[in-house]
Amino acid sequence: MSIFALEPMRNYFQAAVSRDLSFRRQQLKALKNSIVRHEESIYDALRKDLGKGKEEAYATEIGLTLIEINLALQSLRKWSRPVRVSTNILNLPSSSRIYYEPKGVVLVIAPWNYPFQLSMIPLLGAIAAGNSVVLKPSELAPATATLLEKIIGEAFPKEYVRVVPGEGSIVVPALMKEFRFDHIFYTGSTSVGKSIYKMAASDLIPVTLELGGKSPSVVEADANLEIAARRIALGKFINAGQTCVAPDYVLVQESVKTAFVEKLKQVITRFYGEQPSESDSYGRIINAKQFDRLISLLNKGETLIGGEHDHSKLFIAPTVLTGIGPEDEIMREEIFGPILPVLGFVDRKDALSIIDLNPNPLAFYIFTEDAKRGKEWIDSLAFGGGCINNAAYQFTNPHFSFGGIGKSGIGGYHGKSSFLCFSNAKSILKTPSWFDPDFRYPPFKGRLKLFKWLIK
Ligand code: NAD
Repeated sequence: MSIFALEPMRNYFQAAVSRDLSFRRQQLKALKNSIVRHEESIYDALRKDLGKGKEEAYATEIGLTLIEINLALQSLRKWSRPVRVSTNILNLPSSSRIYYEPKGVVLVIAPWNYPFQLSMIPLLGAIAAGNSVVLKPSELAPATATLLEKIIGEAFPKEYVRVVPGEGSIVVPALMKEFRFDHIFYTGSTSVGKSIYKMAASDLIPVTLELGGKSPSVVEADANLEIAARRIALGKFINAGQTCVAPDYVLVQESVKTAFVEKLKQVITRFYGEQPSESDSYGRIINAKQFDRLISLLNKGETLIGGEHDHSKLFIAPTVLTGIGPEDEIMREEIFGPILPVLGFVDRKDALSIIDLNPNPLAFYIFTEDAKRGKEWIDSLAFGGGCINNAAYQFTNPHFSFGGIGKSGIGGYHGKSSFLCFSNAKSILKTPSWFDPDFRYPPFKGRLKLFKWLIK
């Protein structure tokens, strides 16, 4: 029995309406208009789900989405133009072109931590590439999920873009059982990512997996400590630490550890005041389950900053821990909350041995004033992307492909990468009929020398 009735989406896609570039541009504009119309409701939903203030909600959710829509509107013609590539001697006088075509009907599965932009940015990339889309928002951010249905429902017909809400562990397997999607784009935890990858593999469906991981921040002795503290604190405590590219922990050169922690203390107070629970720039934990998990991580080490929490308000103050060892529980899995362990290191080998306990982080941040040293750090690890003397901001440049490596994910998106992610690159060799030499055809005997020459 068909529960979701998605066949009309296949028919809509096959009617090829969305292949037309001006159609895609119109849809991107319709999405933008619907978002702008609902700006106030988006603030309300994000405040309900995550306690986000207006300014933070605009900068990290609405603004990032609008940047991506505007870039797609500006660049779509260029991105979708066939690309002429060289033709090797064996194939002359043919010509070679790559054509980008939409994959079909794609499934986008979004998480709760940036429930608006992590739904919208993949969605608009899929639209720009000419696909039909089913969006499954996170049930853990229910106010945003309901609003997404409204915004999208007002912008698009149901057979073109649809929102299917509900509990992921039930809805996603049911969707994938009922309908063969042409691509699955998943953002969320590594454990669920694995199960989605398995389900997709059984039908050879291509996937993009945007996962998590423990992203380290390294502070070298020559770093500008004030800048390092400000940028790490912002990346860590925005959205109350529930950011996939947040610095998970800090490794600071032992000789500057005390001075660095002192700077952290000052900047945290400057950012959120003496009472962070009253700050409009500081969010809340998504739910009681996550709150309890985070609080259980506080029972080790020394709380140097913060530590206050209130279950009834799902509030945990920006917290800095020291006295943590690599073997402690907090160092074994992604923290995904406002708790920042600061560990000392003596030399790079020492620091790398700690980082290697959680390989393939989504992000890596190095703070140093020495360009050569910064590059050496970047070269010494496998990670998705990162910054030198900054944290989390790589996510905000739409000209970067954003994604992980190994355990932190497969594939990338944002800007042109989103277009490529949701496109099939069709390589076409065009061969004229006026030249058709006999040596290409059997019998081949006696042509070994010629073939070797052609291949060389
Ligand atoms: P999650 O895996 O619980 O949920 C993500 C989505 O998967 C939701 O829509 C949910 O309904 C669905 N889902 C849940 N269980 C499922 C199941 N058994 N089968 C199929 N679908 C299921 O992830 P989360 O807790 O919402 O997100 C937190 C994690 O996501 C963190 O690890 C974080 O680092 C990572 N993350 C990564 C990125 C990135 O861009 N790489 C961005 C945000 C979050």
